[in-house]
Amino acid sequence: MKTYKYDVVIVGGGPAGLAAAVSAKKQQAKVAILERNGELGGILEQCIHAGFGLHVFKEELTGPEYAERFIDQVEDLDIDVFLNTMVLDITKDRHVSAICGEGVLHFEAGAVVLAMGCRERTRGAIRIPGDRGAGVFTAGIAQRYINLENMKPGTKAVILGSGDIGLIMARRLTLEGIEVEGVYEIMPYPNGLYRNIINCLDDFGIPLHLSTTITRINGKDRVHSVEVAKVDEHRQPIPGTEREIACDTVLLSVGLIPENELSRKAGVALDPVTKGPVVDENLETEVPGIFACGNVLHVHDVVDYVTTEAEEAGEKAALYAKNALKKSDASVAVHAEGPVRYTVPEFVDPEDGADKKIKFRVGAPIEKGVTVIKAGEKEVYREKKAHRFLPSNMEIHTLKCSAIAGVRGDLTVSVEE
Ligand SMILES: Cc1cc2nc3c(=O)[nH]c(=O)nc-3n(C[C@H](O)[C@H](O)[C@H](O)COP(=O)(O)OP(=O)(O)OC[C@H]3O[C@@H](n4cnc5c(N)ncnc54)[C@H](O)[C@@H]3O)c2cc1C
Repeated sequence: MKTYKYDVVIVGGGPAGLAAAVSAKKQQAKVAILERNGELGGILEQCIHAGFGLHVFKEELTGPEYAERFIDQVEDLDIDVFLNTMVLDITKDRHVSAICGEGVLHFEAGAVVLAMGCRERTRGAIRIPGDRGAGVFTAGIAQRYINLENMKPGTKAVILGSGDIGLIMARRLTLEGIEVEGVYEIMPYPNGLYRNIINCLDDFGIPLHLSTTITRINGKDRVHSVEVAKVDEHRQPIPGTEREIACDTVLLSVGLIPENELSRKAGVALDPVTKGPVVDENLETEVPGIFACGNVLHVHDVVDYVTTEAEEAGEKAALYAKNALKKSDASVAVHAEGPVRYTVPEFVDPEDGADKKIKFRVGAPIEKGVTVIKAGEKEVYREKKAHRFLPSNMEIHTLKCSAIAGVRGDLTVSVEE
């Protein structure tokens, strides 16, 4: 068994892993990226549509173009990359075991960055009744078939879920000559970004049916129809509203789940809402020296935010490996309150002199509100301008360290209407 020693070992070579690696290397750390696929770039390699890079590069790039900018930097900086290398285990003391064509590899790491991304929820996860015929795909798998494998999944599709991948695939299927009957969303509001509703559905005349779900899939060998029904406020189908739609393909865009099997093995505590690791403001998990970023930490809608988060994680991991990560013993918890579903980070250090980036999402749309952060009863942050909050948009706010210096109680993040 080969053994390697690195300051920072990064698990996953998607946009999060790439940005973390570049940033750690800029801190003079010896860095390795371990990626199970045969190429770097993660999910971006199959996202051939434009819409990436608006924040980081101030231009609109396709997924592969965006990934290429970071892959070039990884090459220029001579960062070690292990492709076709699947990480199987991480221990609390940062021993990483992986398997590749040559056999088992062992890595001793000063710090580890978890950047494994997430996977799509499947039919089994949401338990749609009916026959088990072919023709039911997650939107990401259909995207891979069309964009990378040059295969056509069907001729007439119904899409369940209005997440961004489903919206983007509604457009892609139409462009490939596959009829999209409609997009069906169980919630009373769309789950994808507003720009994707306009660019992917409205521009192509594809109807979006809110408060509606698929109640049955028909077709023993191949899907031949689905039954859809309106749902009530408890998301239960309303009897009498069922209708049958002929189709041979069903695409599911019903959520993403962070890939945290390895995090669990490493003993990292997970947040029950994000399903990603609990982290402090350095993006360090509760296991010292193990950091997390990107979709494995919490699901991001825009890749640019993955990049900025991962740059931070990479820098902090490199500092940790060199015993140079500044921390005081003070730590206060950050709680989500009211309409706020979760926050990242879950802990901050009020005494380290650094401003805090607080990210969160709301559980349902709020027409007009402001973000308010309190320490006990004391207000320590209030957003100046009221705006619309949507579950699909991640909120990012900077909390001045001076506002919470000396605070001992927990912080709460809420939205006031
Ligand atoms: C279909 C789709 C469309 C999107 N469209 C847009 C868009 O238009 N604009 C936009 O800004 N964002 C978009 N996004 C979001 C953006 O692509 C993601 O936020 C981003 O890719 C997340 O980066 P990541 O590195 O965390 O995860 P990923 O890109 O998923 O990368 C994770 C990597 O880790 C590797 N890995 C996992 N487990 C292991 C292991 N055990 N060992 C080794 N390697 C491992 C995986 O193989 C993968 O390469 C889209 C996402 C999807 C899925």
